[in-house]
Amino acid sequence: MSDTKILSGLESSKALYESLHNRISTLKEKGITPGLAAILVGEDPASQIYIRNKTKRFDALGLKSEIHRLESSVSEQELLDLIATINTDDSFHGILVQLPLPKHIDSDKVIHAIDPTKDVDGFHPENAGLLAIGKPRFVPCTPKGIMFMLKHFQVDLHGKHVVVVGRSNIVGRPVSVLSSLKTLGNATVTLCHSGTSDLRDFTKQGDVVVAAMGSPEFLDASFIKEGACLVDVGINRIERDGKSIIVGDVNQSSVMGKASALTPVPKGVGPMTIAMLVENTVFSAELLLN
Ligand code: NAP
Repeated sequence: MSDTKILSGLESSKALYESLHNRISTLKEKGITPGLAAILVGEDPASQIYIRNKTKRFDALGLKSEIHRLESSVSEQELLDLIATINTDDSFHGILVQLPLPKHIDSDKVIHAIDPTKDVDGFHPENAGLLAIGKPRFVPCTPKGIMFMLKHFQVDLHGKHVVVVGRSNIVGRPVSVLSSLKTLGNATVTLCHSGTSDLRDFTKQGDVVVAAMGSPEFLDASFIKEGACLVDVGINRIERDGKSIIVGDVNQSSVMGKASALTPVPKGVGPMTIAMLVENTVFSAELLLN
């Protein structure tokens, strides 16, 4: 048994925000204020909180942000028209469409309509393709935040075995690509999913295990080797003792003392996701200087 180091996303995101101050000042000296247009369709309470938390940071840093709220009955064409308008508005360097969208709207069509040079979520196929060929431009915020966090806490991936559980385009797949890139992680990577037979066999080999499954407290101590570093991406709302609480995909109390390091839930990966949205928007504005 040894101490498990808690990798605070509040600490690493603070470091990222501090590093952005000079970059933002340089842009403002050149008359550019990085701006984000966020589009929210419908009244889903979780989405409303996400979007408020995301844009709050822009205000705090003196950046521009605007939330476009659309009725859940809005037509796909109306949404596409709004995106087309923002695509050509020079005061916005980033466009974010909060997912999920109502069922009558094709999310892929909407994502494809965003100008790929303003795609601060990194979901457009052009940006996903650039990442896949090892030339990342806009990288999805959560995986990018995880990489920043690991670097900040000096978790060196070089030559290590990273086991990622979950293959979504938002988290698992891009984390696996970033970890394997020679210029970034340079790790050996295993990508697991619901079709993986005997998941435990793989996770127990991981020097670093990234849990991005959306299964509350699924990975307990029996899934990891002694000294593994665990990145818990999961955000799952469950009822416990009559209360509604948020837990990750890792059974955090079970791995204490066995894992060498662990990102908490909440206040782990979550704050880094928001910080990276700001970073991607600043980066997008900087592209205008080149
Ligand atoms: P997702 O699209 O539902 O993908 C989940 C992935 O996990 C899928 O690839 C699925 O396999 C795999 N999976 C599910 N159960 C499994 C099992 N028992 N064994 C092995 N693989 C399993 O979810 P997501 O969008 O990637 O999100 C994952 C979690 O991260 C969620 O809890 C979400 O709320 C959270 N999240 C957090 C942040 C943050 O900022 N902290 C950001 C985004 C997401 P298949 O592909 O075979 O279905």
